[in-house]
Amino acid sequence: MRVPMENELEQLKTRLTEIHDLQSAAAVLDWDQATYMPSGGAESRGRQLATLARIAHERSVDDALGKLLETLSPLTSTPTNTSTDASLVRMARRDYERATKIPPAFTSRLYDHMSKSYNAWTEARPANDFARMQPILEKTLDLSREMASFFPATGHIADPLIDASDPGMSATSVRALFTELRRELVPLVEAIASSKQIDDTCLQGNFPEAVQLAFGEKVVRQLGYDFTRGRQDKTHHPFMTRFALGDVRITTRVNEKDLGDALFGTIHESGHAMYEQGTAKVLDGLPIGQGASAGVHESQSRLWENLVGRSLAFWTHFYPALQEAFPSFRTVPLKTFYAAINKVERSLVRVDADEVTYNLHVMIRFDLELEMLEGKLAVRDLPEAWRARYKADLGVSSPDDKNGVLQDVHWYSSPIGGTFQGYTIGNIFAAQAFASAIKAQPSIPSDIAAGNFAPLRGWLTEHLYKHGRCYLPEEVMKLATGAPLHIAPYMNYLRTKYSELYNLG
Ligand code: ZN
Repeated sequence: MRVPMENELEQLKTRLTEIHDLQSAAAVLDWDQATYMPSGGAESRGRQLATLARIAHERSVDDALGKLLETLSPLTSTPTNTSTDASLVRMARRDYERATKIPPAFTSRLYDHMSKSYNAWTEARPANDFARMQPILEKTLDLSREMASFFPATGHIADPLIDASDPGMSATSVRALFTELRRELVPLVEAIASSKQIDDTCLQGNFPEAVQLAFGEKVVRQLGYDFTRGRQDKTHHPFMTRFALGDVRITTRVNEKDLGDALFGTIHESGHAMYEQGTAKVLDGLPIGQGASAGVHESQSRLWENLVGRSLAFWTHFYPALQEAFPSFRTVPLKTFYAAINKVERSLVRVDADEVTYNLHVMIRFDLELEMLEGKLAVRDLPEAWRARYKADLGVSSPDDKNGVLQDVHWYSSPIGGTFQGYTIGNIFAAQAFASAIKAQPSIPSDIAAGNFAPLRGWLTEHLYKHGRCYLPEEVMKLATGAPLHIAPYMNYLRTKYSELYNLG
């Protein structure tokens, strides 16, 4: 029997796979730039990437693609049709509508400005020079507003920007979620801050790079990151990249004075990678063959890094191997090490923050972004507003901008708005997914303590990974856990773990 619109579907897949291939080729060039490319290659590499991006963009806004999607739209008219083809048409249409709203001339202006901004930031940050970034950031803010203006007016100017990385979320929904989380989180942070602090000096020392790399690889191999379909290389700012289902790579960086950097960074990236490696084969090469959103992706890196990698069960299994690899731990009891890797501290720098205070860093940025977009906060007043919020929310204040408003690359390399909330959405959903996995398979914690990660990975693959981007984030969250995104499992997790670590009453 002939499948309805079989020819059109085939044509659609061919077109989408070509776009995907152009983007994958660009991703290989990007990966190479961040790992092995000699500095002399920078100029031509920038041009090569721009060429590929332009061709991919032209194809993704092609009228013929629009017509095909129109013809195929009956496939999506039944909301209950959850076949892969219907999902493909639904998501491809979403991408097409988004892409065609943004004029190509604007895209190249933005691209140009952002690459200048990024280059300026790489010098301005070490020089602690916000004055240099101020006019550039003002222009970024203008461009961000312009970008939002291409979309129909919604409740908030940031909505289209948030929707770009976390589809379906809005300023209102993220604010509501953050307000609720903040109410619960602040008293916990205060209770911890007034308890006896954990001593984490055992994590400092001399840990040879080669040994750290070997140990990290051993760990993520056992977690289930498949090296026959991946590899790990060194870089400055670690990331995960997918070229295809059969080639999902991770990168890491090593600090020989601090054991945690490479180890938890590697586990984090392997979490992103296992998500990609777990997507269904039939989705490969299509725009639905990838993680569902920034937030859902981050939930998986954080699930493996924090809920698994910073748990006592995990270290019950791995600690002897760690002591074997790094002799300084032979005299450190497991409980001391476990406490050290979970030390909570109100600090200045987001990327170094522990899992309890981390979200407060995110909320500061999210609120300041919205205020800037609303026109309530001028860029020149940003450093002061930043300091005031750190003082109020975390009780610390940076003497310089280097570790203040200049610390994150986001506002200097992409439009302002919608860039940070995914981290906290990730933290919240990580706990929700983990709780659901354990509810379904109560042996998971003891499996982890025995070094067997297959049951957890299997559950995640079956309920979340295999779906790729067939559904919107809220749909896939519900599908996996039976409930919409909510903070109860996350607060439960934090309270249980840290009450014990800090002897809270
Ligand atoms: Zn991540």
